[in-house]
Amino acid sequence: MHFETLAIHAGQDPDPAYGAVMVPIYQTSTYVQKKIGETEYDYARTANPTRTALQACIAALEGGKHGLAFASGMAAIDCVLRLLRPGDHVLASNDVYGGTYRIFERVYRDYGIAFSFVEMGDLDAVRAALRSTTRMVWVETPTNPLLKIADIAGIAGVLAQAPARPLLVVDNTFASPYLQRPLALGADIVVHSATKYLGGHSDVVSGLVVLNDDALHDRLKFLQNAVGAVPGPLDCFLVLRGIKTLPLRMERHSANAMRIAAWLTAHPRVAQVLYPGLPSHPGHAIAAKQMSGFGGMISFVVKGGPAEARRVAEATRLFALAESLGGVESLVEVPAAMTHTSVANSPLAVDPALIRLSVGIEHADDLIADLAQALA
Ligand SMILES: *Cc1c(COP(=O)(O)O)cnc(C)c1O
Repeated sequence: MHFETLAIHAGQDPDPAYGAVMVPIYQTSTYVQKKIGETEYDYARTANPTRTALQACIAALEGGKHGLAFASGMAAIDCVLRLLRPGDHVLASNDVYGGTYRIFERVYRDYGIAFSFVEMGDLDAVRAALRSTTRMVWVETPTNPLLKIADIAGIAGVLAQAPARPLLVVDNTFASPYLQRPLALGADIVVHSATKYLGGHSDVVSGLVVLNDDALHDRLKFLQNAVGAVPGPLDCFLVLRGIKTLPLRMERHSANAMRIAAWLTAHPRVAQVLYPGLPSHPGHAIAAKQMSGFGGMISFVVKGGPAEARRVAEATRLFALAESLGGVESLVEVPAAMTHTSVANSPLAVDPALIRLSVGIEHADDLIADLAQALA
């Protein structure tokens, strides 16, 4: 079936108890067993029917075999990192979500895991940066907040030639599976902050993992239960509900962002616009090849430096000054001072004059009018 149909139906058969059309919020911690062990569900950290539906749904949307849900995007990322052992090396994009950089450098480094960062858009640089100990390659595309593009199939090709083939993990948060499906391009594991486009309404924190490999899934499922950073059933319900309109929302996010990016490019007070939909973007050709749309995230640099960036971000009225992204409402932020403080003074530090927009699904004319008055 097509994506739009799967978004509404995958994993969501009418409830067997009463025929409820919507997957019920199974708000229970435990389940009655007919005889000892004679039960589909035993304890809700291990499994919950609302979560089962979400896991099946995201697996279908990513074109994968297995889905796993977590209490946050970071919990999902943490679970994947637990596949590593001391001595392993992770090669990651040189622009990643601040929290991802933080868990690498300030949590897993202490457990003997090495991290290094590379320009993922440059396949020769990726090849050269691989080590004999590289067990995982961690890719964001588009990246947060610089909207850099990496060629997922190209990287998978480089890794296929490596002696001990590392796992290719793609954080697909910015694109969502509607615009990009990394497993089909050769990725082994997809991670999501479902807090963003999948939830889509800024009302839930959630994380997801999708993969095909049975043995890896067994290990991650074991870890999901053993470590226990699972989402509650209400959170799973909210993500399922958000996903139903994902195709419609992503179309509007992408169309609005395209118009705003073009408008910003022509604005005299804007020094640089980063949006993969612009033909001038260095990753445009790859993005056009591996994505079916360019998404709703735009970053731009204003003339006048950091103080002017802060002034503009604080002067918008419709764009709310807030962290996070991917909701129906438009948000604005200054990454260096907000979402990306964890990369300050590191090689991944972000230009303090950079403004990031999460373009919502309001009318583009109103969004442009708001940016016009803020820039003025
Ligand atoms: C927000 C975000 C995360 C972390 O997800 P949470 O749900 O906030 O824990 C990871 N990766 C990317 C790209 C993000 O934007």
